[in-house]
Amino acid sequence: MKYANFKEHKITRTCTVQFDKPRKYAKYLKRDFHCRCCYCNMHEDLVAVPYHVEHFIPEKIFKNKKDYLKTDYENLMWSCPKCNLSKGDKYKGDIESNSKIVNELFYNPVDTDYNTIFYRNELGGIDSDDPKGREMIKILKLYRPLHNLGWLLERLEKMCDQLEIAISRERDPERKRLLELAAGKLAREYMKKGKVFRAAYKGKKVFVQNRDADLDGE
Ligand SMILES: [Zn+2]
Repeated sequence: MKYANFKEHKITRTCTVQFDKPRKYAKYLKRDFHCRCCYCNMHEDLVAVPYHVEHFIPEKIFKNKKDYLKTDYENLMWSCPKCNLSKGDKYKGDIESNSKIVNELFYNPVDTDYNTIFYRNELGGIDSDDPKGREMIKILKLYRPLHNLGWLLERLEKMCDQLEIAISRERDPERKRLLELAAGKLAREYMKKGKVFRAAYKGKKVFVQNRDADLDGE
């Protein structure tokens, strides 16, 4: 059941320069995609690993047929390493006849508003009622518990920010002290959970309450 929207931003392509190497587009992609993975929506700062320049139509498919797609900005996406790896060379369609940037296995994250396909369920997981959306969740492994944790962490971060604002506005000394106490606790919790999240993203086993937890969910 839908609990919240999948994402809050809109991706708009603004790069008008042509480069000879995909990586040279990185700074434009980063900006246009709001530092977020176009598939799972996780923010780079949270994941803390370099993001990839991803080909929507994979190189293996267009090679020797439409080589210009290697550096065509429309075919480039900003993706976290896990989504890029899961997507790999997966492709469906007819590369020869289709003049548009289409890969029938996936909704194009720029042309399609992912909020119409995906949503967050009550556990913060990525969900969809759309058949192709559900297939995408499988292919890109968007069902990983990592995505729930990442989303919850972002909410925690927002709460920290809101508390800071409340503290700055509070005039009563006792109430201010209590708010500062709560903010400190919340910030420590955010730091701790952030460490667990980053370890899990890198595929390391994490130690939670005396039990091994594999949040990567492979
Ligand atoms: Zn991702």
